[in-house]
Amino acid sequence: MKAEILALGSELLTPLRQDTNALWLTDRLLEIGIETVARQTIADDRDALVRGFRVALQRADVVIATGGLGPTEDDLTREAAAEAAGRGLRRDEAYVEFLRDRFAGFGRVMPEVNAKQGDVIEGGTLVKNPRGTAPAQWVELDGRLLFLLPGPPHEMKPLFEGEFLPLLRARAGQRVVKTRVLRIAGMGESDVEQKAAPVYTRFANPRTTILGAAGQVELHLVAEAADDAAAEALIESLAAPLREALPGRIYSEDGRELPAVVADLLAERGLKLAVAESCTAGMLCAALSDAPGASRFLERGFVTYSNAAKVDELGVDAALIEARGAVSEEVARAMARGALRVAGADLGVAVTGVAGPDGGSADKPVGSVHLAIAGALGEHHRLARFPGDRSRVRTQSVRLALELLRRALLGLSQG
Ligand code: AMP
Ligand code: MG
Repeated sequence: MKAEILALGSELLTPLRQDTNALWLTDRLLEIGIETVARQTIADDRDALVRGFRVALQRADVVIATGGLGPTEDDLTREAAAEAAGRGLRRDEAYVEFLRDRFAGFGRVMPEVNAKQGDVIEGGTLVKNPRGTAPAQWVELDGRLLFLLPGPPHEMKPLFEGEFLPLLRARAGQRVVKTRVLRIAGMGESDVEQKAAPVYTRFANPRTTILGAAGQVELHLVAEAADDAAAEALIESLAAPLREALPGRIYSEDGRELPAVVADLLAERGLKLAVAESCTAGMLCAALSDAPGASRFLERGFVTYSNAAKVDELGVDAALIEARGAVSEEVARAMARGALRVAGADLGVAVTGVAGPDGGSADKPVGSVHLAIAGALGEHHRLARFPGDRSRVRTQSVRLALELLRRALLGLSQG
């Protein structure tokens, strides 16, 4: 079954309010094997709402709308949904009486405008809302299911979970959807795609989506099956050939990000790390210390931005910087060795590069970054030419430094 979610309310199309209902609903639906294929955010405008409902009812088996069920003029969801469904509205007088009593319970007279909250699409069912005046409702339309829910998340969520989720679970049959994320660093999106596509395009279930970010690519494998174990087995049947197509490249399949993977490897091996950073100015050290327990492996970090700092703190030879430039293989290696020695660590890692936007030259354009590792795992060096602005260059530098460390720790080639 495919779902479409409509977030209704003009405020959701301004920077003032964000639609959070749709993502929450997407997650709940996925847990019972219903995938969301489209989403709309629509203003409190009758024509726009009718068109939105029409489109949704044409292409989805399950349409879930939130918002616009209040008593005021701009609450048009009931009318618009009924029109799009080609059905009338019937007033549920029993509900109106119930609402009247509830107002009376608070010592108030129900304003007459609230009576329209008892309107229900022909053939549909109202569901009382203990946290507000707007009831939810649902109706079956030629095999499709339409659900209308109030907008406030604290009213919508319990109604959906308590009333509609069980109904949907029964309709969906016992299907589960599982996702596994394979993460790769140090390779571009198109390189990953070239290796992975011949494998994953052979599979309809799991489906695969590829997502690229600065210095990282993710393959999302989504499997649908009768139960968790069957879904996991389907995912593994695709993950295995992907591992072969990308040997040593997948750094995590269990949700861990790269810094955590490297941190775990360092801690397992009992190695102490010292970090020397120029253009990333502490970002690598910060990433490595993100997870708790960093003191197990992180000895210290040096932010050596100036040439003087590289000389004073890491003992890099001033003449070497003069001869080769601060952004060079030799200086990167000397920084890694210096950090290692000064800190008395097992491993030293260094980053020096041109983050931009200024400081580039013909032979060292913006985005040129030298990375080096020294110590217990031997010496390694990589020159990268990263695209993008200053922030992306720095992010990619950190990711690649971590990937070099991971490869060194696992004894993988640095190519
Ligand atoms: P309504 O049901 O249209 O009267 O919505 C009442 C309030 O619920 C709005 O002012 C928002 O604060 C909140 N709301 C409505 N729709 C959403 C949504 N999709 N995500 C988060 N909050 C919402
Ligand atoms: Mg509204």
